[in-house]
Amino acid sequence: MSGVPIRELLLVPPGTPADLAAIDPRSTPGLPEDRAAQRDPKAWARADVAARLPQLAELQERLYASAKVARDPRRVLLVLQAMDCGGKDGTIKHVVGGLNPGGVRVHSFGPPTREERRHHFLWRIRRALPAAGYVGVFNRSQYEDVLVVRVHGLVSPEIWSRRYDEINRLEAGLSVDGFTIVKVMLHISPEEQAERLLARLDDPTKRWKYNVADVEERSRWREYQEAYEAVLTRCSTSAAPWYVVPADRKWYRDWAVAQLLTEVMDGMHLRYPEPELDLEAERKRVLATVPA
Ligand code: AMP
Ligand code: MG
Repeated sequence: MSGVPIRELLLVPPGTPADLAAIDPRSTPGLPEDRAAQRDPKAWARADVAARLPQLAELQERLYASAKVARDPRRVLLVLQAMDCGGKDGTIKHVVGGLNPGGVRVHSFGPPTREERRHHFLWRIRRALPAAGYVGVFNRSQYEDVLVVRVHGLVSPEIWSRRYDEINRLEAGLSVDGFTIVKVMLHISPEEQAERLLARLDDPTKRWKYNVADVEERSRWREYQEAYEAVLTRCSTSAAPWYVVPADRKWYRDWAVAQLLTEVMDGMHLRYPEPELDLEAERKRVLATVPA
């Protein structure tokens, strides 16, 4: 390892203006400098992810066990945001897919339904929050309400401009309630997006993912980057920090998110609970009990 934790390298420091143009989407911060990693970084990273996922799954099991047995209120919420083709689904498949699905809750947020539109924008978010012991994953999130909504002017500026503070208040409260919130922006370049859109058109097995509306969004790239910068600047807090993952290289993206989650969950000092059991007495009871 380079020594510096990924959670420091990719963090958007709270209270500082974010500058996405200064982050190269093709860069690979934190990748070790040893020879094996340098010679074939892609193969190295894929192997490292494969080796790391069982470790992450074990941390997840401790989280689950603590909630189940010791009423530990803690839980993890991973928020994924990106431009179209940014790799949210791939990250869920390759990283979250390494966890025990029984302890994971993935929620994807699309345009609000009729019912959702009748409520405050955070209503559907609160309903989707993970229970104690779970790892919740948001594929898009509360942040769409200051991204797509801001770029398309779906509500007035007076309304969306209040939402940053509303989101911060929600997240601060959640952190008090036991949430560890990890917010990840997968940062791709417009060139990479074009390649991925074209790949979706070329490849019959990917064509189903092509969305004609994505091209319209693409034409507003600069406005989206500004909206993202506002999110990162105003909503990276110590209770719920934002991380920017350079995501043009899929293998780096997966490696970085796996590494980040491992560091964060390691930092939670999760332990298997020790249930109050008289082990000797229970052993005897098991052996003495004859199933009828
Ligand atoms: P996808 O992630 O490709 O399934 O697309 C989901 C779509 O839902 C994206 O185009 C988002 O911009 C859109 N979306 C998500 N949340 C909102 C929201 N609060 N208001 C409007 N559109 C939204
Ligand atoms: Mg899409």
